[in-house]
Order: sequence, then structure tokens, then C-alpha cells
Amino acid sequence: MTKQDRIDSSRILLFSMGIPKMGSSCPDLHCDDWKIIAIEDEIDAFASVRSKGIDLVILHMSLDDSIDSDLANVLRSISPMPYLPVMIMASDSAEAQRCRFLNSGADDVIAEQTSAVEVRARIRAMLRIKDLYDQLAASRTALELVLDRELKLLDRLQKDNKALKAKCTTDPLTHVRNVRSFGGILAHEFKSAKRYNTSLSILVLDIDHFKVVNDTHGHHSGDYVLKELAVILTRSVRESDVVARTGGEEFCILLPKADQDQSVMFAERIRKEVSARKFTVFGSDIHVTVSIGQATFPDNAEVTTPSMLAYFADQALLMAKDTGRDRIVAFRQMPREMRLRMRQQQLDADQSSQGSYPVQCEMMDMEVNSRQI
Ligand code: GH3
Ligand code: MG
Ligand code: MG
Repeated sequence: MTKQDRIDSSRILLFSMGIPKMGSSCPDLHCDDWKIIAIEDEIDAFASVRSKGIDLVILHMSLDDSIDSDLANVLRSISPMPYLPVMIMASDSAEAQRCRFLNSGADDVIAEQTSAVEVRARIRAMLRIKDLYDQLAASRTALELVLDRELKLLDRLQKDNKALKAKCTTDPLTHVRNVRSFGGILAHEFKSAKRYNTSLSILVLDIDHFKVVNDTHGHHSGDYVLKELAVILTRSVRESDVVARTGGEEFCILLPKADQDQSVMFAERIRKEVSARKFTVFGSDIHVTVSIGQATFPDNAEVTTPSMLAYFADQALLMAKDTGRDRIVAFRQMPREMRLRMRQQQLDADQSSQGSYPVQCEMMDMEVNSRQI
């Protein structure tokens, strides 16, 4: 429908207040296509405005009408239209009266004597403004729909993003942190420990003879043990600690603000709990033990980078394996010459970015800049 069609098919309420022969003094509007609804009763007029899709109201009033000063606004407020133009056709069109009507909310005031041609022209002008309001309201509704759709899309994207982020940082089997995410956290915590001069301990834990578990009970049973071990570790740590699966049957635990003695005591508690635990899978009881390597910054003076902290704990773990398994070896227990040699090796590796831990930790160092924990 074109704008002209919309204007031509408008519905106009001619509300004659207290004029017995309605329309006798009113210009003829019937020659246009408008549907004219002539009403004398106020209640009927209100009902029409509310429900009959009235596009414009002409209040036809005689001189002695004691008009409700707010009538135009009241009619507008009950109309379902975005805007309802109200014109007043008055027998008294003196300037003071015209101003009174306009100030009380009328959009236009015309005199009874005004020619039908001019009245129709004024009505058309009002209907054009009304049509503009209608179009604005329609655009606004359409925009609100689009906005609503966009907001829903954004919400879904944010949820997907969160889920994706969780997937990227979580080990799918055990639901603890994965190695890449752990790298970032280690770098961040190391920086923080250095800045605030606090302790940072790391435990590297590896299940002893896990291959035998798989070989004896099957891979699924092995998976079950890994999952249950992750639960034990997660339940044992404080909220600020971080548990990660950093290898097949290897986990790392980062203990911010835990010094050497505290972290060794914690490691011992874990070791005992695991060795006392019976993992029952498919009717079989599985017993496993764990070996743990430990290192602490700054208690271990050799540690100057996050990669060193991880590397030294890893070396301590190897010593725990070599000396019988099911035990904890703290980095400080290793001979001094060995510690110094390891430090030099690590410095060289850091420089050439070779070896598994240094490479990982370089990634960590890169991540830490963009990461918020
Ligand atoms: P050690 O005491 O020296 O650590 O002996 P180990 O048998 O635990 O170590 P090894 O490196 O020889 O074997 C590790 C085994 O862990 C072999 C591998 O199949 C198993 N493994 C690694 N990842 C998974 C996994 O996701 N699920 C299961 N079930 N097994 C895994
Ligand atoms: Mg193992
Ligand atoms: Mg291993």
C-alpha cells in the first residue's frame, strides 16, 4: 500500500459535542475516500477511538462547549495508534480560543466557516504526519525484532565461546586443566610469586607402572583410574591451587603460596591416599602408587624461571622413579652438583628453546601476556 493509499483510506471520527444537528455547520468531508464515523456521544467516541482504528479525530465544538481541557490528550492516550491527530472545529475561532485549544493538546484548530477544500487539505496534512508516525513505529518494531534476534545470537555466541574456551583449556578425559592451559597458569603464577615475593611450589605426579594396569585390566579400566585420580587431586587441593593432566598418566599440581615443607607434606598426603585407595572396576580391585617430584620457588635458589621450576620437579620425579617409586623426591634432596648442572642445562635449553619443558614454558611465557586468570 502506498502512502497515498494509506492516507486516502483513513478513518476519521467526527465527534460533535453537544451540537444537535451534527454536520449542519460542518464542511462536507464525504467527497474524499475517507471513512467518516460521526458520533455525538462521548462514550461511543471513546469506544471508537479505542477499537475502530481511528486515524484522526475532529472535535466539533460550539461556542458554549465547556470542553474538557485535556480531551485531545485523553483520546490520544486511549488510541492504539502510535499517534492520533486531534483537530478542533470551533464555532468561535477567535485567537484566544484557538490558542486555548492548541495549548490543551489539539493539533489544529479550524473555524466552522472554513471552506471544505481547506478543511480537507488540513486533514490531509495531519494524516501525512500521522502516517509518518506510523512508519516510524513500524520501523522501530522491526528494529526491535532485529535487535532482539541479534541479542539472542550474541548470547548464544558468548555461551558457545565459553564452552569452547573450557574445551580448549580442559583435558577431556579427566576434566582438569590440560597441558597448554597449565603452561599459561604456571607462567602467570611465577610472575606473581616473583613480584610479591611469595612461594610457588609445583608437584609432578606420575602413576607407577601404569602400563601394567592397562595390560592387566584393559585401557578402559586405566581410564577409570586416571579419572578417579583426578578427582582425588581436585578434592585435595585449595581453590587457588591448579591441577592439570600434563601427560598420559602424569599430573602437575601448582601450589601458590605453599613453601617447600608445606608442599612436601601435601604431596605425602596425596601419595598415601592413592596407595591406600582401591579402584574397583568391572569387579576388579586395582591398586596403584604414585611417584612425585617437587620443587619450590624461591626456596630452591636455582629456580629463576617457570620452565626451571617445572623442569626441576620433573627431574626430581625421575629420581623418585629411579630410587624405587611410590615416593616423593624434593628438588632440594638432589645433590648440589646435579642441581647446578641441571640449572645450566635448563639455561642452555631456554636459550635455544629446545627440550620439552622449555618449549612448553616458552609458550607459557607468550600466553601469560594475554591471559587473565
Ligand atoms: P613408570 O612407573 O616408569 O611411570 O611406568 P609406567 O608404566 O607408568 O610408564 P610408561 O611410560 O612405560 O607407560 C605409561 C602408560 O600410560 C602407557 C600408556 O598406554 C598409558 N597411558 C597413557 N595415556 C593413557 C590414557 O589416556 N588412558 C590409559 N588407559 N592409559 C594411558
Ligand atoms: Mg607412569
Ligand atoms: Mg609417565
